[in-house]
Amino acid sequence: SKDEGGGKHYTFEPSLHASAEERRQLEFALRSALEREELVLNFQPVVDAQRECVVSFEALVRWNSPEHGFVSPGKFIPLAEDTRLIVPIGEWVLQEACRQAMKWPDDIRVAVNVSGEQLLDPNFSASVVNALSASGLPPHRLEIEVTESIFVRDDSTARSTLEQIMALGCGVALDDFGTGYSSLGYLRKMRFSTIKVDRSFVQGAAVNNPESLAIIRAVVAMADSLEMSTTAEGVETEDELQMVRELGCKKIQGFYYSRPMPAKDAEELFAGRPLD
Ligand code: C2E
Ligand code: CA
Ligand code: CA
Ligand code: CA
Repeated sequence: SKDEGGGKHYTFEPSLHASAEERRQLEFALRSALEREELVLNFQPVVDAQRECVVSFEALVRWNSPEHGFVSPGKFIPLAEDTRLIVPIGEWVLQEACRQAMKWPDDIRVAVNVSGEQLLDPNFSASVVNALSASGLPPHRLEIEVTESIFVRDDSTARSTLEQIMALGCGVALDDFGTGYSSLGYLRKMRFSTIKVDRSFVQGAAVNNPESLAIIRAVVAMADSLEMSTTAEGVETEDELQMVRELGCKKIQGFYYSRPMPAKDAEELFAGRPLD
């Protein structure tokens, strides 16, 4: 901005203005994305570290907007959270993920990301029940993924909602572990099915960063003794795979095995395999 000289100047920032305007337009488009059927789910395989077979898929939402093109979830999910559009979008994600999972063999689970905004919505557990009953998916085949941040805002509501979900028989995974506020207190209070080790540690470990190695080793040891599973996220290379297997991670997810894929491709992985 020019004119820096003295006094109070509220300078006009063209770039800031552009991003606020862009955001307003994105929000406008996102409001109708659901009814215009612009959202789709992709599915990324999660592989058992020992047996090297697919054990689940993580559902990842994609938005192809006619006006804005492909918008990454890193951009529109925060916007959906700010505007609470994440509640109806998240409901659709749950329904669709359960519906797709019914097309896979019955030992394959589906993981669904859930934001704090959704979890604090009083209708959240009802929407899980609805998604399960509408699709016929057994509860143990659904795993909800949450991040540590949900325990910071409203710990007791988040916990009691997750306990209701667990009581249904669903799993709850702790996502991006190690990047958030990392109070270990909630590990004592909540029986997570899986701890997902954030990819920043995985990628550090492969280049022999001693802190990353120590952290993964400690997380795996802790998860093992708490009888929680571990998933290494963001495994891209053979070296990274080798490392996280040696460190004892139970499940592997990342581009090394597969990028997120369309529902049809996930289904075709099991072509020829009986559904039960
Ligand atoms: P996340 O839950 O941590 O999901 C994993 C992200 O890492 C995905 O990005 C995935 O494509 C990416 N990824 C997987 N393997 C690798 C790898 O080997 N290397 C690298 N560099 N990246 C890898 P994506 O699909 O762009 O999603 C970003 C975030 O958006 C997700 O992070 C999640 O927080 C959020 N998100 C996506 N779908 C949903 C949804 O349906 N609901 C909610 N609430 N959030 C979602
Ligand atoms: Ca996730
Ligand atoms: Ca993650
Ligand atoms: Ca993440």
